[in-house]
Amino acid sequence: MNFYVMTLFPEMVSEGLHTSIMGRAMDAGIIRLETVNIRDYTLDKHRHTDDYPYGGGAGMVMSPEPIKRCYDAIMEKRNSEKKPRVIYLTPWGKVFDQNMAKELAEEEDLIFLCGHYEGVDERVLNEIVTDPVSIGDYVLSGGELPAMVMIDAVSRMVPGVLSNEESGMTESFENSLLEYPQYTRPEVWMEQKVPEVLLSGNHQKIAEWREERSIDRTLQYRPELMDKAVLSKKGGKYYRLRQKEAVGQEKE
Ligand code: SAM
Repeated sequence: MNFYVMTLFPEMVSEGLHTSIMGRAMDAGIIRLETVNIRDYTLDKHRHTDDYPYGGGAGMVMSPEPIKRCYDAIMEKRNSEKKPRVIYLTPWGKVFDQNMAKELAEEEDLIFLCGHYEGVDERVLNEIVTDPVSIGDYVLSGGELPAMVMIDAVSRMVPGVLSNEESGMTESFENSLLEYPQYTRPEVWMEQKVPEVLLSGNHQKIAEWREERSIDRTLQYRPELMDKAVLSKKGGKYYRLRQKEAVGQEKE
C-alpha cells in the first residue's frame, strides 16, 4: 500500500513513522510512505505557501496553487489509473475510527493533505479532496500528527504488517468492545496477583473471562459502544446480568 503525504514538514512525518512496526513494514516493502513538500511546488521566488484570508480575520490560509501542483506531481508518479482517495486532515471532517481504518486499508494508494495555519483555500479542497477527516474534537497546529495517526492505524489493518495477524483481531474496538486487561510476568507485582484463570491453561475459561472483562471495561468507559457489540451466548448472558444489576442499583 502506498501513502503519499502532502505537507510543509515532510521530515516530521517520515521520521515519526519510520519506527517499530511501521518501520519494519516499510523495510519489508508492505507499505510505502512518500512525503512531498508542498513548498517545492511554489512558483514565486520567496516560496510562499500561504496568504492573508479574504474577508479578514486572524491567521493565514494555505494557497491553492502549490497544493494543486504538488497533487499533480503525485498523480503523475503513480502507476495506477484509479483515482485515489485524497484525505484532508481537518477538525471539521468525519471523525476517524477503527471502521474507517479498515475500510481505507483496502485501498492501493492514499493521499493525505496536511493543513497548517488557519487552514486551506476551499477551492483546492473542492478540486482534489474526496474525504475530509478529523482525528477528534480538538484543534491541533497542523495535519501532520493526524496524518501519522491515520497512517499508523490504517497500516495495522494491512495484511502482513502485524507479525501476529491475531493481535489485530483482538484489540479494542473489534466487535465494538474495548480490550480486556493484559498481564505479563511477574505473577505478583506490588502485591497485585495476575488473575488465577489466566494461569489455568483452560483456553475456554480464559476466553470467557476476557470477554466479560471487555464488557465490564466497555460499560465503564464507553457504554455507547455496547449497542453494536457482538457477544457470544455466554457474553450476552453476562451483559444482561450487568444491565439488571445496574437497574437494581438505580432503584436503590
Ligand atoms: N481554523 C481551523 C478550524 O477552525 O477548523 C483549524 C486549523 S488548524 C490550526 C491547522 C491544521 O491542523 C488544519 O488545517 C488541519 O490540517 C490540522 N488539524 C487540526 N486539528 C485537527 C484535527 N482534530 N483533525 C485533523 N486535522 C487537524
